[in-house]
Amino acid sequence: MNLEKSIELYTKGLKHLVGAVNSPVRAFKSVGGVPLFIERADGSKIYDVDGNEYIDFVLSYGPMILGHRNRKVERSIKKALKKGYTFGASTKSEIKLAKIVCDAFPGMDKVRFVSSGTEAVLSAIRLARAFTNKKKIIKFAGCYHGHSDALLVAAGSGLATLSLPGSKGVPEEAVINTLIADYNNIESVKNHLAKHNDIAGVIIEPVAGNMGVIEPASEFIQELRDLTKANGILLIIDEVMTGFRSKFGGAQALLNIEGDITCLGKVIGGGFPVGAYGARNEIMEMVAPLGDMYQAGTLSGNPIAMACGIATLKILEKRNPYKKFEKTAKRLEKILLEAAKENNVDLQVNRFGSMINPFFTKENVIDFKTAQSSDTHKFKVFFWEMIENGVFLPPSQFESWFLSTELSKEDLEKTKKAINKAMKKVAQI
Ligand SMILES: *Cc1c(COP(=O)(O)O)cnc(C)c1O
Repeated sequence: MNLEKSIELYTKGLKHLVGAVNSPVRAFKSVGGVPLFIERADGSKIYDVDGNEYIDFVLSYGPMILGHRNRKVERSIKKALKKGYTFGASTKSEIKLAKIVCDAFPGMDKVRFVSSGTEAVLSAIRLARAFTNKKKIIKFAGCYHGHSDALLVAAGSGLATLSLPGSKGVPEEAVINTLIADYNNIESVKNHLAKHNDIAGVIIEPVAGNMGVIEPASEFIQELRDLTKANGILLIIDEVMTGFRSKFGGAQALLNIEGDITCLGKVIGGGFPVGAYGARNEIMEMVAPLGDMYQAGTLSGNPIAMACGIATLKILEKRNPYKKFEKTAKRLEKILLEAAKENNVDLQVNRFGSMINPFFTKENVIDFKTAQSSDTHKFKVFFWEMIENGVFLPPSQFESWFLSTELSKEDLEKTKKAINKAMKKVAQI
């Protein structure tokens, strides 16, 4: 396989970019080899600079749920572009996207747009502290909530990939108010509650996607909701990954819970930088200019990004691809498990709506610890054989694969062939 131009660009990129990337997981550290440089993408496919074509299961880590370059979305973006790029003043498009988002989340009266998931979450934490006048936050090991100081402990995503417990440069004082609990383990939450009476909020990925895909047990998430409510603690649901992925709206509805503050990102921008946090009026009225919790952004609610988000969500609502996602994910699961069985490879497949990923382990994966029992070397071999056979996966055992509406039957057949080959290769290790 020819990756000559990617190699050349990677070498060039190292001079003025850190590791030739602008986000660590893109550097392919855990799978080795040179990271692919992308030239373009269209529909379900992505093309690297050497002209290799891949079926794309990365989809920019989620936003491209309609596949690449949806023509309707593109028309909306072009229309917005002609009116100017950013004004530092309000536009109609912000009201439009706000209505779509608030209508899709029953408990959300108001929303504030920001430019990334990281910003959405760090603002939501500040808001929970402002509202409760308390300091501490509980997060779950293996969940990732962006790269703000207070949340970079026991985090998933890139930290899990690089096996880092946390980040250098985060002072102890910055994480002193962050308590860690175990996903799917309500006792670990109760233990904190017994010891601390100054907990402002509990933050959780309603379905974890940053330590691989892990669903919460129904009793666990219900109890978490009841427990937080009973103790005057805000439940912050980080739907940056899950929002509009498995349902029009959030995973909360599918899990039959309602958080106090919801964080969004990824899909709501349709590929442009948009994040959001929202809640009922009582809570959102704490935020400036209505209240005294300060939070701002020069490019927040950017009109081009809003146009892309609106068009994306409108199409999603109309098409309602969620049943089909479920069916496709189920089929993919079957393909993976059959290939594993045929080749005597230990494999678990977890999925939720349009999120799915295989773990190379015998253990049932229900939390960070069991996720980490996965054989990352096997994943590495699997990953490169998939690349060789025209399938682009996230370059980490601990990242979800994503489905788009553009994934065709032929794509799935091609993916099946690649999986069969890759699993054979894994069996030879
Ligand atoms: C991706 C992600 C974030 C961070 O969003 P960015 O836009 O990368 O800052 C936060 N929380 C969750 C659950 C995510 O998946």
